[in-house]
Amino acid sequence: MDSDMPRTGHTASGGLLPLWSMAYLPGHSHRTPPLLPHLRRLRLLRFFVRRFIGAVFGSKGTHFVFSIEHFCCDRPNPTLQVIYLAIIGATYYFIINSSFSYIPGYYLSEIHWYTSFFAVGVGILFFLLTSFSDPGTVKADNVSEYLSAYPYDNIIYTEKECSTCKIPKPARSKHCSICNRCVARFDHHCGWMNNCIGERNTRYFLAFLLWHFLLCIYGTIALGLVLAGRLKELRVIYILTVYYGIENSFRSLAPHVVQWLLGSYNTQILLMVFLAIVSLLLAGFFGYHANLCLKNTTTNETFKWQEYINWQRKLSEARASAAALKASISGMSSEEKRPASKCKSFFQRSPLEDVEVVVKRNMYDKGYFHNLCEIIFPLSTRPSFLQKKSK
Ligand SMILES: [Zn+2]
Ligand SMILES: [Zn+2]
Repeated sequence: MDSDMPRTGHTASGGLLPLWSMAYLPGHSHRTPPLLPHLRRLRLLRFFVRRFIGAVFGSKGTHFVFSIEHFCCDRPNPTLQVIYLAIIGATYYFIINSSFSYIPGYYLSEIHWYTSFFAVGVGILFFLLTSFSDPGTVKADNVSEYLSAYPYDNIIYTEKECSTCKIPKPARSKHCSICNRCVARFDHHCGWMNNCIGERNTRYFLAFLLWHFLLCIYGTIALGLVLAGRLKELRVIYILTVYYGIENSFRSLAPHVVQWLLGSYNTQILLMVFLAIVSLLLAGFFGYHANLCLKNTTTNETFKWQEYINWQRKLSEARASAAALKASISGMSSEEKRPASKCKSFFQRSPLEDVEVVVKRNMYDKGYFHNLCEIIFPLSTRPSFLQKKSK
């Protein structure tokens, strides 16, 4: 077992986490990341659930439940991949079933039959590319190229060996305990993809997030236009104002129109709400990862830096309080000889105020353009990398 991935770490982040967080395992380390106190709580919760299952079902029941948990969370498995395919398939099926009969309509031409199919197809293609492409597995035969790809910054990355793979650990790489391999420029292990996100497939992962965000927006707008088209074709506004005598203003008509839509097109309304919520989630995920890529850092490094900064801050605080203690002791002994001026001591700086501000120095950040090129054309796919390999 790799030293970076203690068992306690990865079991804590699996099992009882909800599906979404189960899919998103940023990495595990010696110390519990200070950013994730909820993981500690989950570990505690897991302990109590284990005790509860043990009390109710006995040791066989506990063994059965935890072997399922081990299969689902600690080993590569396609559960979430199947769920993703079921979600996208079911959503598209319901859209076809409920709304394609209104296309072509007042606002949408029949081209949307084909563009929607194309959009879903490309989405699935990005999913397959991210899931089944090599994230940048570091092996004995390519480790020297990966070692020269990124230098050690000697802050969060120092020269060491992976205790599981028994090969040197290139800077920015990490041993994924779920996939049991070292991955270059490791970001996180993605349960939805059943794959690590690393140096070679971050581009597909970003494309997946961006494309699915756009797909959800497209679906929401297209369904909205279908409903707007039905409103126009059935002359609902005309009927409401002329036959029902409702005032021709937005405020008076809106409740009646909404009531009519909810009564007649509830499937489309539900689909629109679902797609809008998912698009917001995807926008958040894409924004987060795009920001990391522009700064040439990873989710794993974000946690590493946070740990490093917290540790440095504590060290600095300890130094400052030691200096303050020393100063107060020497002050006490000099006070015995000569009482210090109250005014002078009031304006004197406390050594505790001199706590150094720890700054993040990411040596891999080479500017937005260069960073983006590194995502689109990973270093290991470039001719310079391949030449090194052939030497
Ligand atoms: Zn390894
Ligand atoms: Zn992995």
